Amino acid sequence: MESKIDTTAFSGWGLDVRRPLIIAGPCSAETEEQVLETARRLKKSTPTQIFRAGIWKPRTRPNSFEGVGVKGLKWLKSVKEETGLLTTTEVANAQHVYESLKYGVDMLWIGARTTVNPFTIQEIANALSGVDIPIFIKNPVNPDVDLWIGSIERLQKCGISRIAAVHRGFSSFSESRYRNEPNWQVPIELKRLRPDLPMICDPSHISGRRSLLQEVSQKAMDLNFDGLMIETHPDPDNAWSDARQQITPEQLSELLDHLILRKTDPGTNGVLSKLEELRGEIDRLDRELLNILESRMRVAAGIGQCKKESGITILQPTRWDSIISRYMELGRSKGLSDEFIRTLFMAIHEESINTQTKIMNE
Ligand code: PEP
Ligand code: MN
Repeated sequence: MESKIDTTAFSGWGLDVRRPLIIAGPCSAETEEQVLETARRLKKSTPTQIFRAGIWKPRTRPNSFEGVGVKGLKWLKSVKEETGLLTTTEVANAQHVYESLKYGVDMLWIGARTTVNPFTIQEIANALSGVDIPIFIKNPVNPDVDLWIGSIERLQKCGISRIAAVHRGFSSFSESRYRNEPNWQVPIELKRLRPDLPMICDPSHISGRRSLLQEVSQKAMDLNFDGLMIETHPDPDNAWSDARQQITPEQLSELLDHLILRKTDPGTNGVLSKLEELRGEIDRLDRELLNILESRMRVAAGIGQCKKESGITILQPTRWDSIISRYMELGRSKGLSDEFIRTLFMAIHEESINTQTKIMNE
């Protein structure tokens, strides 16, 4: 890492207050040796402060390894005693909470499949009443900021004062280079609505494969995330869960060495005025874009009127297909990605259809 950057995100957490906070450890606790070896190697070669290991594993399909259960909590205790690392594990019901507290786990995390369910979150929040333990809340599997915030609020109402949000990406049906789509605008929106919460990124579950971890971690740092949760295993290829995305502690060290940490404060050496000039230009172009969009919708209204008078349907599918492919080709020649052009024109088209529908039904 280029340099450590001060952050106040975790003040009150009793942690080293520099960015990024590192949470690392295996997807699942498998054996006592595997857990302890991971912790020792993390301690030796990385700035990890918090050791993670799943004890109860929420698996998408049955007949997969579902975690070692309570006996793994003793191994976490040994990790803490031997290395001094703080420990965290995933809880998905009240029983998990009671067992974890009994064995002295320092912090808890709530998984994506749990955050979606207000009943379960409430059950966990109730089980935690009177115990002000730090909690990491992963985003729900679907990109719903309100649901994420709702879970956070349920815990806060039960007296939890130290909460960090963990961005682990979102399920999607379509083919993607990610295991879980990052949809960065969702955590950015959470940060806008709840600037008081530290934000952690979990590149492992976003990426689903080792080769993307560096890129996703860098992006998180460039978006000002406060920490990273990265799955590490002494022998990743033979991990009992999430083998393709885990890395060794030494590989984590290398990943962190390559991270570039940029400052949030632009400083005074002329950067600010340059930025201001560029932002002014962006604002001017954005206003121009809006004017063009206004004109475009006026033309769409004219088309709607014309279709109404001649009694034809709004949607002319073949025309739409040819427009999109023509514009993607044109966009490519201007260095604009297919994905961007598709999203942009889908939105414009949708608005056009809405405008025309209104006219048809007037
Ligand atoms: C995990 O951290 O191993 C895990 C199951 O995470 P998620 O809830 O993000 O799927
Ligand atoms: Mn995992």
